[in-house]
Amino acid sequence: MNKTQTRTVLISGGSVAGPALAYWLHRHGFTPTIVERAPRLRDGGYAVDFRGEALDVLDRMGLLQQIEALDTQMGDAAMVDAAGRQYATLPAAIFAGDLEVLKGDLTRMLYEATRKDVEYVFGDSIASLNQDENGVHVTFERGAPRRFDLVVGADGLHSRTRALAFGPEEQYVRHLGIYTAIFNLDNYLGLKNTGHLYTAPGKAANIFTARANTEARAAFHFAAEHLEYDWRDTAAHKRIVAERFAGEGWEVPRLLKEMDAAQEFFFDSNAQVEMDTWSAGRIVLLGDAGYCAGPTSGRGTSQALIGAYLLAGELAAREGDHTAAFTAYEQQMRPYVTEHQALGREGAERFFMPAPTQEILDMLAASAPENTHTEPVRLPDYTPATAA
Ligand SMILES: Cc1cc2nc3c(=O)[nH]c(=O)nc-3n(C[C@H](O)[C@H](O)[C@H](O)COP(=O)(O)OP(=O)(O)OC[C@H]3O[C@@H](n4cnc5c(N)ncnc54)[C@H](O)[C@@H]3O)c2cc1C
Repeated sequence: MNKTQTRTVLISGGSVAGPALAYWLHRHGFTPTIVERAPRLRDGGYAVDFRGEALDVLDRMGLLQQIEALDTQMGDAAMVDAAGRQYATLPAAIFAGDLEVLKGDLTRMLYEATRKDVEYVFGDSIASLNQDENGVHVTFERGAPRRFDLVVGADGLHSRTRALAFGPEEQYVRHLGIYTAIFNLDNYLGLKNTGHLYTAPGKAANIFTARANTEARAAFHFAAEHLEYDWRDTAAHKRIVAERFAGEGWEVPRLLKEMDAAQEFFFDSNAQVEMDTWSAGRIVLLGDAGYCAGPTSGRGTSQALIGAYLLAGELAAREGDHTAAFTAYEQQMRPYVTEHQALGREGAERFFMPAPTQEILDMLAASAPENTHTEPVRLPDYTPATAA
């Protein structure tokens, strides 16, 4: 198999992993197409952070300075009681990583870095995948059928690509016992580069500043076993959260009202994806779709960026021999992912601490992921065909 036979790559998902992969594939001489279910770029969302080698990848993409300029500059936050009184300080090291940005800002930056060279199809989704020896026949929910040499599922925790190529979600997604809702609101408390966090048994609520204190993001987290709900029904998600937090103190009543009115709203379970293999013939998974470590790992965006770099690099280095490339990609990523998934499970276990003492918080900061040794991932120099 040579490179001329493996050129076109369909990527499902245009968030972090998808555009990062498209960037590298284009630079290595492939022709990537991204199909994204959302009708437009998803600009809202929560803050994500980067650690270790992910910053190297951004540097190699020539995007490090841009991303540094987007840093939320988040400082330590305040732990508050039901009356709003601060009883401890939550060190930023626990939640802000080496560098923290809004996920929407990251997606926009990756989109801007690729849109001239990459075909983006918004508002559509893969409907079926049929592969043969020479390629993959893809049908879409809206667009006309097309054929690609390879298909990459970078479509997140609830990956359609994974469901079509590997089987139903229940086989692979492991719920970590936490549900999270996040929404945009005004910085009505007038906070400056900080946040307030309130906890109760099995529950936590917080508000953090965003975009140079002109906006804020609030979150509700609660412990629960698997809940049945329709993932498209936002009103139902808001009702679930409102029921869980009814009667709580601090700013919770106001935040529930804000949530009700919020346009940008996210709700999902905290979960991991566990799979024995990430590829099936010409179809391969990348980022959360294949190996989500859960928000409590603080490593998901790093995994997405590093996975994208390795997958594209291996396809180029093996001149499009996708079988060898997928094996090499998986061998390099596996130990890194395994360690992060362990971090994610540990983080979930200690997530709800009603009124933690300062001593405990300082101890957690000292053992925060960026201060803990994690399995290093080597980033080979794949020497792209085209200059940055
Ligand atoms: C609350 C929360 C906080 C987090 N905090 C951090 C953090 O601090 N640090 C960190 O490193 N990580 C964090 N993460 C994890 C991080 O957001 C993910 O690991 C990362 O975004 C994974 O990127 P991805 O591109 O693989 O998937 P996603 O970002 O989930 O993107 C998947 C994309 O696929 C699209 N899509 C879905 N279905 C389809 C379909 N059928 N067809 C086409 N497109 C589709 C979606 O619209 C989306 O754009 C957090 C996650 C959550 C939920």
